[in-house]
Amino acid sequence: MLITAGPTREYLDPIRYLSNASSGMMGFTLAKTARNLGAKVMVVSGPSRISAPWGVRTIPVISAEQMYRETLKLFSQVDIVIGAAAVSDWKFAKASNQKFKKTGHSLEITLLPNPDILAELGRRKREQKNKKRKILVGFALETHQWLTHAKEKLLKKNLDIIIANKPENVGMSNARIAILDRKGHQKIYPPISKQKAAEVILKSIEPLLNAPFPT
Ligand code: C5P
Repeated sequence: MLITAGPTREYLDPIRYLSNASSGMMGFTLAKTARNLGAKVMVVSGPSRISAPWGVRTIPVISAEQMYRETLKLFSQVDIVIGAAAVSDWKFAKASNQKFKKTGHSLEITLLPNPDILAELGRRKREQKNKKRKILVGFALETHQWLTHAKEKLLKKNLDIIIANKPENVGMSNARIAILDRKGHQKIYPPISKQKAAEVILKSIEPLLNAPFPT
């Protein structure tokens, strides 16, 4: 199993960066719980204070581009990918290796879109006609209409399962989640710990391990 975890960081100069409040807790809790269930787990993680669980190979990255490259490299070795990382959707068009000087004036900055890691894995999964189909699981952080938007992302990125969650979960130890699959099942959970969330997420993947995958 491969899990992406944590935030990514997009540097503008050696000091300043664009990122988010993700702690990596969801990804690393999933990793530890999956390892306890007997899975061989690798984590590609953006900057996080959480120490990697014992027995879980962790590949540290900084930017979304690095996370994209490392994840794609490992894709052929795994059966399941869980995208728990809060990947920055944009990067700076121009980054400087020297600190930007304060000018007292406004600064116009262009942001370019980052590659969507899970969407790319979803495309590759579609092309794997003869091989064992991989299981792709994503998260959808939504401020409104969380189930509708999560369902759209499940289909758009060609995922098997998506976990809808709310912004108040980010960086916190509790989670308010709903799990949706391609068959239209959806289960909304009351606020639970991230440990409990990891357990129910992994439980929802289990039936797919031996079942034929939907196309
Ligand atoms: O489209 P959105 O960012 O809401 O999708 C969230 C899901 O997609 C998460 O599972 C996240 O890890 C993954 N993602 C990704 N690469 C990106 C953006 C999001 O893998 N560039």
